[in-house]
Amino acid sequence: RFEGVTMAPADPILGVSEAFKADTDPMKLNLGVGAYRTEELQPKVLDVVKKAESLMLERGENKEYLPIEGLAAFNKATAELLLGADNPILQQGRVATIQGLSGTGSLRLAGAFIERYFPGAKVLISSPTWGNHKNIFNDSRVPWSEYRYYDPKTVGLDFDGMIADIKAAPEGSFVLLHGCAHNPTGIDPTPEQWEKIADVIEEKNHIPFFDVAYQGFASGSLDQDASSVRLFAARGMEVFVAQSYSKNLGLYAERIGAINVICSSPDVATRVKSQLKRIARPMYSNPPVHGARIVANVVGDPTLFNEWKVEMEAMAGRIKNVRQKLYDSLSVKDKTGKDWSFILKQIGMFSFTGLNKEQSDNMTDKWHIFMTKDGRISLAGLSLAKCEYLADAILDSFYH
Ligand code: PMP
Repeated sequence: RFEGVTMAPADPILGVSEAFKADTDPMKLNLGVGAYRTEELQPKVLDVVKKAESLMLERGENKEYLPIEGLAAFNKATAELLLGADNPILQQGRVATIQGLSGTGSLRLAGAFIERYFPGAKVLISSPTWGNHKNIFNDSRVPWSEYRYYDPKTVGLDFDGMIADIKAAPEGSFVLLHGCAHNPTGIDPTPEQWEKIADVIEEKNHIPFFDVAYQGFASGSLDQDASSVRLFAARGMEVFVAQSYSKNLGLYAERIGAINVICSSPDVATRVKSQLKRIARPMYSNPPVHGARIVANVVGDPTLFNEWKVEMEAMAGRIKNVRQKLYDSLSVKDKTGKDWSFILKQIGMFSFTGLNKEQSDNMTDKWHIFMTKDGRISLAGLSLAKCEYLADAILDSFYH
């Protein structure tokens, strides 16, 4: 009876890691998935994470079930990290926060909530966006469409296109925005542009829906990277925010994140929270505790919190260094005079190279450099030592 099951295609991002594992070439390089590596290209567990884990052992914490909404200390810490501990919205009790299975699981809860309470409402997503967004809303049976975002001519933001498409969408749509370090382009709106985006969203009665997967990784400052969300919240708007600790605390496999719904009153927040719990219960019952305790320990302890900031700056700094070195290598080696400065303007973990599918295939087939077919490379998986090699591969793929 399972005879009729067809083969699913490989995942465009995680499938790249599988192909990388199978390659035996010593020069191979995995720039597909956005996962931080050291200069030696090894995964990194942050020192603050190890310290938080030893604290947990010392305290002899148990493995009892968490409540459906997750660990209370985590939910408090995560909302404070997002909005700022002294934000009046928190004192007013207007935020419904529940722990989710990292960014993806939190987005999926939001998808289920939208499907249930806003039947027919559309989610607008940027073109391009992180590949999994479309899967998440498809599986949630939430209709979506794209708004213009990336302009290949300027290798920058198509701001007018973005505004026009948000304006043209049916009233009351959800507008999915990347809080910072847009994936895959590495191009964010300026503070003035964020204000205009908020104006249009308000005008159209849309609901802003932030995906915050890189807080602290874009600018190196947790507060600055949350400024887009805080700007919308400060206008008194109702806002959805999904958070992830995969990148900024390196907790990829712990699946720790949250969905926050900023509501118009504490009463509404209480009701929204009750419904999110109702959605979570039959899906996975309650979330895992380990990552939640790590986050609560790090964010809730001033010493660990400061140590975390130093380690995060070091990670962001290493990525900035390889970004600079890649730009330098390309500029020196490329004799055509092409301007590569867009690489320096992009922020976060990724660079959107402009390589098309065929050129990206050449990167992998000839040079053993694994990357997604949209031309995105993860600089978090690049070392200074490999920049020259990567530059050779990019130039060969562009001009061959
Ligand atoms: N949103 C975006 C834009 C991302 O890039 C990612 C991670 N690649 C996520 C959400 C969620 O990742 P996770 O489920 O590991 O938190």
